[in-house]
Amino acid sequence: MSDAPVYRNLIGGTWHDAASGATFANRNPADTADVIGHFADSDERDVVAAVAAAQQAYASWRLVPAPKRAEILYRAGQLLIERKEACARDMTREMGKVLKEARGDVQEAIDMMFFMAGEGRRLHGQTTPSEMPNKFQMSVRQPLGVCALITPWNFPMAIPSWKMLPALITGNTVVIKPASDTPLSVYHLVQCLTDAGLPPGVVNIVTGSGSKVGEPLMRHPDVKVISFTGSTEIGSRVARVGAEGMKHVSLELGGKNPMIVMNDADLDLAVEGALWGAFGTTGQRCTATSRLIVQRGVAAELTARLAAQAAALTVGPGLDERNQVGPSINQGQLEIVERYVQIGMAEGARLVCGGAALRDGPYARGFFHQPTIFADVTRHMRLAQEEIFGPVLSIITVEDFDEAIDVANDVPYGLSSSIYTRDVNAAFRAMRDLYTGIVYINAPTIGAEIHLPFGGTKGTGNGHREAGQQVLEVFSEWKSVYVDFSGSLQRAQIDNN
Ligand code: NAP
Repeated sequence: MSDAPVYRNLIGGTWHDAASGATFANRNPADTADVIGHFADSDERDVVAAVAAAQQAYASWRLVPAPKRAEILYRAGQLLIERKEACARDMTREMGKVLKEARGDVQEAIDMMFFMAGEGRRLHGQTTPSEMPNKFQMSVRQPLGVCALITPWNFPMAIPSWKMLPALITGNTVVIKPASDTPLSVYHLVQCLTDAGLPPGVVNIVTGSGSKVGEPLMRHPDVKVISFTGSTEIGSRVARVGAEGMKHVSLELGGKNPMIVMNDADLDLAVEGALWGAFGTTGQRCTATSRLIVQRGVAAELTARLAAQAAALTVGPGLDERNQVGPSINQGQLEIVERYVQIGMAEGARLVCGGAALRDGPYARGFFHQPTIFADVTRHMRLAQEEIFGPVLSIITVEDFDEAIDVANDVPYGLSSSIYTRDVNAAFRAMRDLYTGIVYINAPTIGAEIHLPFGGTKGTGNGHREAGQQVLEVFSEWKSVYVDFSGSLQRAQIDNN
């Protein structure tokens, strides 16, 4: 074991080694010799202890007035502002994204702190007239209990904040299992909350693998909500387990996001947008632009300009601010990217840029790959259908608007989409006809803000939305309350008809 810090599970407000005593190392994907920390390699015993602590804390936390819960979130938001740079640097070390983007990831958690704190003084329900005289009725939100949060590595702080903060403001308690590649950012997030006065047991952290921690956590009978972000493969498993246990399940899964460029588009803007959408975060965003659907009139020029500019992107460790594209998260993800390059070649797509992993010199201890673009991709190739989650962009040429929309919608996912056009009619038709949870006009497929609902259609999820006020639906249930002050029995639907 290296002399890097050791991080224990947070259970009931105190720090605990895994019951097994085992740990795993968290390494920098830009330099695997850099060990960021050793984390508890937990199992079901730790999960049981954490859920019990969360269940116990729930009894009092649910009764704390929501505006008082909000004060803790406000204070935590202030602390996160003070710690933003340190958190961003640690995030770049553990996840690889370039520093500018890591700062954005922390900022998203700050935004969520303040947004959800504001909800503490809203959490509106309804009052509505009764059909009876002297009767009052209203609907109120109520929490559910212990929420299991299972999060991925690509937004190591933002995604946990999207789940944790709405869960807390509505009065639930939490057990979070962070992605094994990026647990430290969750520690930083939770530390802000505990330093701000969050009572013990309201948030608990258990680190370890999906099979040894994620599985028992989502199966635990005292867990009432499972909020999962990750792959469609694991997500569908979570849905099945949740159904067996009659739990509330919210899933945010994969994407295969199209950006359409019409003949009348501002090409400078489209080139800049496609580069950012496809290669920002090394293509490891669920909303990454992975298909560029281009009308024939501009296809050749756009392809040439993009290939030249993608080849000029600087690849390297994210802590060096000159670099624009960081590493893939781990060896397995890098191999997936390499495999899809081979698949693309075998399918007959035309490689116009990149295509190779970078393993020499300064890249030797990281998981780097060249920004890669394929042209002449057709809509049913695997390149055009399957999520790659790496720096690979596929260009598909179409004849007109209708074909563009048809191709855009012709994938199993429906997270984000975009169109570049100067035709306002085309823009509005696209807003209506693109079947995705998010649509951008004259911007790439990435760049969501936290106060609008986030999520997708089809294989991207199960109909829930994160962020926005809509996320409150995941973490609360409605209770309808009828108050009869007439002093007599009044039978609805009977006595007034
Ligand atoms: P993943 O392999 O599905 O893992 C996600 C989380 O689930 C991790 O914490 C993982 O733990 C855990 N897990 C793995 N197996 C499990 C099991 N059997 N039971 C319970 N938990 C289990 O996904 P990923 O590779 O981390 O993330 C990439 C995927 O997330 C992509 O498909 C991307 O599109 C999707 N994503 C979607 C959104 C969205 O909002 N739609 C946002 C971001 C990412 P370990 O880390 O220990 O394996």
